[in-house]
Amino acid sequence: MDCSSHNVMTEAEIRTMLADAGLRPTRQRILLATLLFGKGDRHVTAETLHAEVAAVGEHVSLATVYNSLHQFKDAGLLRELAIEGTKAHFDTNTSNHNHFYLEHEGKLMDIDGVRVDGVPEPPEGMRVSHIDVVIRLVKA
Ligand SMILES: [Zn+2]
Repeated sequence: MDCSSHNVMTEAEIRTMLADAGLRPTRQRILLATLLFGKGDRHVTAETLHAEVAAVGEHVSLATVYNSLHQFKDAGLLRELAIEGTKAHFDTNTSNHNHFYLEHEGKLMDIDGVRVDGVPEPPEGMRVSHIDVVIRLVKA
């Protein structure tokens, strides 16, 4: 498996990463980035990250978590995955890879080795950037 873009990061590395991405390293951003990037690649929603903030005894509003996730995404630190209409899922691994979606848990798992056949020719002057594959799983 080669879909790892972030290894475990120290706070100094996180500050540098935020600064390099053009984001002021505020206390809240450092906290959120530490939870996001401090332990390897992962998938989160605003709700799951908000719960992690509470679990470490901090308080950041859900709206701030949500806005920060979008700021990180706009800065290229996260990739947003289109899974459901209601909840945005974010991936700390911004490389091109695909997912299993465990519908009963609302959880994503990285997969590789998907081959997509029969992709239509894009219109003149355009090329395929990448193809997002989400394979939805239910309990057998
Ligand atoms: Zn992923």
